Amino acid sequence: MRVLLTGGAGFIGSHIALLLLQKGYDVVILDSFVNSSSKVTKAISNYLLTKSFNFNLNTITGDIRDKNLLEKIFNDSIIDNKPIQTVIHLAGLKSVSESLTNPLHYWDVNVCGAKNLIATMNEYKCYSIVFSSSATIYGLTDSVPIDENHQLSPINPYGRTKVAIENMFCDLYKSNMNSWKICSLRYFNPVGAHPSGMIGEDPIGIPSNLFPYISQVAVGRRDSLKVFGDDWDTDDGSGVRDYIHIMDLSEGHIKAIDFLNSKESCFEFINLGSGNGYSVFQIINQFELSTGMKIPFSIQKRRDGDVAKCFADIKKAKKLLGWVPKRSLEQICNDSWNWQRRNPHGYK
Ligand code: NAD
Ligand code: UDP
Repeated sequence: MRVLLTGGAGFIGSHIALLLLQKGYDVVILDSFVNSSSKVTKAISNYLLTKSFNFNLNTITGDIRDKNLLEKIFNDSIIDNKPIQTVIHLAGLKSVSESLTNPLHYWDVNVCGAKNLIATMNEYKCYSIVFSSSATIYGLTDSVPIDENHQLSPINPYGRTKVAIENMFCDLYKSNMNSWKICSLRYFNPVGAHPSGMIGEDPIGIPSNLFPYISQVAVGRRDSLKVFGDDWDTDDGSGVRDYIHIMDLSEGHIKAIDFLNSKESCFEFINLGSGNGYSVFQIINQFELSTGMKIPFSIQKRRDGDVAKCFADIKKAKKLLGWVPKRSLEQICNDSWNWQRRNPHGYK
């Protein structure tokens, strides 16, 4: 079965690609490489070659806003006699701060890009899509755990583009309820790396998220971690989040495809998180255990837009997808460190 994986060279996409290939899917990656390295697909292939795996990976460099290119990809797949049966749509921009300074660009890439993609799918009668949504759409809430019925109130343009795309899916589904199969996965905090240490997270520039930042402190690329507030209403005063191992998250996508395949039509929003909350100090502590090093840090003022606690209710994912996250915080930190110490400068 052929899957089109948009954004497949990114952090999340690269891990999903590897898993899809290991499961025997034929994978077409479409990525502009605006936020990823061209070495990613080589790393995926190298890993599979070391395992003597036969696989079918095709990487196309291009933009999801390029309608002609999308049509060509769908058309070529039909000519190959391997029509695209499912799309996993991850391509997009994800920086909250950049979305505040350049909102139109975010609407263009994320919303117009998604519209372009689903319009092309519609033309080619490919009606099955898994989409990367985000817990950011729940906005500023401390009412945890957060389930899928929680109201949506994103506080930044990035989050609003995700809600707009979910709304677009909703309208599309209602217009043709017999055909579309749509699963919008709302990720909490995907972290960690493939256990081989051959693929992992490699942000361009200064990381804004905790895990890549702390990994770069551990490997000596940054002096010290800034902890954004120790006066939150949490047990130790630092912010609590739901960190999910990237391999658990990737397995959730395979389960989502199985789920879509089992349906005539459907439209579901599903949280993907670990269902547990860990504080920044707990992460520092586990990172010190995993690396055997002291992580220098300083307490700074709270970051705008942060909340005290955010973690998922994952009952729906367990029930509908039959999915359960299996990896511990220890494994997350071990695998993050394994990737970072083997690749101190990421893919460079
Ligand atoms: P990433 O930036 O590593 O990957 C996204 C990929 O999309 C990159 O390879 C980038 O080059 C590509 N891309 C961007 N614009 C494109 C365009 N116009 N055409 C084609 N390719 C384009 O990000 P990620 O962390 O892997 O996130 C993947 C998806 O998951 C994103 O949609 C993101 O919003 C969503 N998400 C991520 C997180 C997270 O914490 N990482 C949380 C929730 C949701
Ligand atoms: N955080 C921090 N220092 C950093 C980055 C993040 O203290 O350099 C804190 C942040 O305030 C939050 C947690 O770590 O409490 C997770 O932040 P991240 O940006 O990784 O995820 P998000 O807040 O988007 O869920």
